[in-house]
Amino acid sequence: MKNISIKILFSLFILVARCTAWNIPSGQEQHTTFIVSFDGFRWDYLNRGITPNIAKLQHRGVSALSLRPAFPTKTFPNHLTLLTGVYPEHHGILHNEFLNPRTSERYRVGDTSAVRNSTWYNAEMIWETAARQGVKTASYFWPCSDVHKKTGEPTYLESYDRNRPYLQRVNDALAWLQLPKEQRPQFIALYFEETDNQGHEFGPNSPQINFAVQQMDSIVGLLVQGIEHLGLLDATNIILVSDHGMTEIDTSRVVNIASFLPNVKVQYSGYGQVMMIQPQKGEEEKVYSVLKENERHYRVFKKESMPEYYEFSEHPFILPIILVADLGWTLTNRELSSKERSTFGKGNHGYEKDCLDMHGIFVAAGSDFKKDFRTGTLWNIDVYPLLCTILKITPAKNIDGNLERIGFILR
Ligand code: AMP
Ligand code: ZN
Ligand code: ZN
Repeated sequence: MKNISIKILFSLFILVARCTAWNIPSGQEQHTTFIVSFDGFRWDYLNRGITPNIAKLQHRGVSALSLRPAFPTKTFPNHLTLLTGVYPEHHGILHNEFLNPRTSERYRVGDTSAVRNSTWYNAEMIWETAARQGVKTASYFWPCSDVHKKTGEPTYLESYDRNRPYLQRVNDALAWLQLPKEQRPQFIALYFEETDNQGHEFGPNSPQINFAVQQMDSIVGLLVQGIEHLGLLDATNIILVSDHGMTEIDTSRVVNIASFLPNVKVQYSGYGQVMMIQPQKGEEEKVYSVLKENERHYRVFKKESMPEYYEFSEHPFILPIILVADLGWTLTNRELSSKERSTFGKGNHGYEKDCLDMHGIFVAAGSDFKKDFRTGTLWNIDVYPLLCTILKITPAKNIDGNLERIGFILR
């Protein structure tokens, strides 16, 4: 711990030294809004008394009890929902891994060419909205920000590199803030994965997750100090969010769905907390009945009667049968190998959006936000219309988000 504090102090020194050497921009009246995502940062990590820098922001601005994610509560679907204002059934990224049943192609977050292929995406991200209206934006590792789109990409883009040190990400983002006014982005999205990584490996109640939370709090401190040093604090909004939370899991709570379907050929899509099944033609009813008979520790739905609550039925790649695991349970389509058991991890997410463990954070401070204002749970589909209001741009049509549910946090 001591070692890390020294590291952070040293980094801070470097940062301040660099800021001093940089040109501090003139014309400070142009506003910039940062949105910073801490992957898997559960809402209650902020109540552990280990986040002094974030507490300062909460005091200076708005703090929500939690941020309700979209279903399924996975990374890519929710980062896209945050910056499009629509549910996964409308933007098309249904899971971190899913099947196009028409072509048998699969979208996978680890497959860069699939991730950058715009044909998977059906909604307008904020960079497109902004580009159409002449507003400059920047993305530093925001999931789905490097999709190739003629209609608009971030003006400045850093594509994901998990090995890039966190401090460098902060420094580079601060460099964008120092561009001459006519080149400077008015919107900067930043992404950090540490809390997700530690939450998966050690669980949401571990010393390791608390340490990751403290590290991310230091990152917030460095970002704010960097902005302050540039004399831009009053001209900058900072919004902290997360895509989802985390809950404890273990290998004693696993259901192998394939064990109920020994002689039946099906295609699977998704995994873990949400799984979709494509039976062969004519076998839909049989497969559904078997899964219904064995419905313990999960729920099974037919696509046509999926409860509206999930907002998960309208997309053509949602398969005819949908399984949703109970909180803490994991669905597989084979027996776990001993290696898989040994690397299973102690935390996961992807469950229903109203399980509180799946909720993330929302903290926002800056000239556009009320001061020292606490509110209840906000919805992540409403963040995009909020951002459009701050950036003074017209949002895309037909979004699921609604400014009326969130606009009251603005000054
Ligand atoms: P998950 O926990 O499966 O929802 O995914 C979270 C993980 O996605 C994080 O640990 C990141 O390392 C990883 N990740 C984030 N952005 C990207 C990206 N652009 N490409 C590939 N992996 C990413
Ligand atoms: Zn995530
Ligand atoms: Zn995760």
